[in-house]
Amino acid sequence: MIEVKALKKRFGQLEVLKGIDLQIGRGEVVCVIGPSGSGKSTLLRCLNLLEIPSAGKIRIDDTEISFDTHQVSEKEQRLLRAKTGMVFQSFNLFPHKTVLENVMEGPLVVKKEEKKALVQKAEGLLAKVGLLNKKDVYPARLSGGQQQRVAIARALAMEPDVLLFDEPTSALDPELVGEVLKTMKELAQEEQTMVIVTHEMSFARDVADRVVFMDDGKIVEINSPGELFVHPNEKRTQQFLSKFL
Ligand code: ADP
Ligand code: MG
Repeated sequence: MIEVKALKKRFGQLEVLKGIDLQIGRGEVVCVIGPSGSGKSTLLRCLNLLEIPSAGKIRIDDTEISFDTHQVSEKEQRLLRAKTGMVFQSFNLFPHKTVLENVMEGPLVVKKEEKKALVQKAEGLLAKVGLLNKKDVYPARLSGGQQQRVAIARALAMEPDVLLFDEPTSALDPELVGEVLKTMKELAQEEQTMVIVTHEMSFARDVADRVVFMDDGKIVEINSPGELFVHPNEKRTQQFLSKFL
């Protein structure tokens, strides 16, 4: 469903992605691991065009953009962006909107969905992340873990083909990490396609269909968690993983 080919991104002189090739199937969960600065966030941000790649190609479902030949139009950007939903490390909820309003905001503004049906949909999503009873409160009243679960419901409200997570638990107090990982695990079981940048190795081992190890702007190794964590093929993967033992 997702195809990334020879994707490059440079910031001025600095080449941060040096040719990424990756294919992800519908319903697949891919965890991306690797040292700080290796380009994991930039890869996710390129997938939803928060950053415009310098070269290469991205296809999601039936929407394909090549960055080699031409300036990408606003319309192409909107089309591809609509295929993805992003969950950030910092939850970025609207502080002056209730939980329910936060979940409804995207479809209401971007898709002009009808309000009554949307309320039902948003309540359904809040039920799914276990927060229907918080629908009328403001984000400041929620714990970090609860806010992140609202952020997940908000991303789902746009019905993206793929959910992108950039270290969704690394801003949380340790005791709140589990509830967010549990929500993500449930989505994985429902065959939601997800790309997850994470340092939670045991979560990646449990939930990922495949794990991508990135270093220095390149994919060093892709494999099933059973293989990659137990018998990494590359020395750099071994060295990285040994820090987590
Ligand atoms: P990771 O998420 O793996 O820690 P990033 O993708 O955030 O890595 O960053 C990869 C490299 O790109 C780093 O050297 C970082 O400083 C650089 N970088 C990221 N974003 C920008 C930017 N907007 N401008 C300049 N350099 C950037
Ligand atoms: Mg990052």
